[in-house]
Amino acid sequence: MNPWIAKAVVLAATVMMLAIRAPHGHRSRSVKVVKSHKTPLEIGLLFLAWVGSFVPLIWVASPAFSFAEYPLRIGPFVAGVMCLVIGLWLFYRSHADLGTNWSITLEVREEHQLITQGVYRWVRHPMYSALVLYSVGQALVIPNWAAGLSNLIAIAVLFALRVGAEERMMAQQFGNEYAAYTERTKRLIPRVW
Ligand code: SAH
Repeated sequence: MNPWIAKAVVLAATVMMLAIRAPHGHRSRSVKVVKSHKTPLEIGLLFLAWVGSFVPLIWVASPAFSFAEYPLRIGPFVAGVMCLVIGLWLFYRSHADLGTNWSITLEVREEHQLITQGVYRWVRHPMYSALVLYSVGQALVIPNWAAGLSNLIAIAVLFALRVGAEERMMAQQFGNEYAAYTERTKRLIPRVW
């Protein structure tokens, strides 16, 4: 298959991702932060996530990663497009369900509410599940080891180093309510993990 098809898919998925996030990023600026856990580690993780999502775009636009190229095959491509579509849907739903409680980093907002409905009924971190699905989709669609894996590695590191601190912050804020929520839900995959 022609790698330009993969490039078009990667570009379209990126545009959709940005379009889903944009209104929330814009709105979040006007919702007061009452407690911030934006540590130097958090700043480093956000930078890593940014680099991870930028590398595939460099692959689309330049031959910089040509050393890592391999042929594009229909099977992984179709599976990857499916992961991207489901990942984008879940990304959209989790933003819609979190509403004004969303932050790009670890923060408690004014009138912060614990969301346990919608996709948050299935898992505690549907937005991270969405990012994992999306980056697995990219890894399958992009016929290039370096550009294909960059986002997945960044998201895996972000999740591994952030989720503990995020759950501690939520437990501090919501006490028993959060404890009960963690009792009945898993982190990323419903009923599994
Ligand atoms: N980890 C979640 C949310 C990511 S956005 C997910 O993957 O879906 C990160 C911010 O969301 C955190 O700063 C926290 O303030 C907020 N948050 C996380 N889980 C929440 C929940 N269940 N209800 C309300 N806010 C939540």
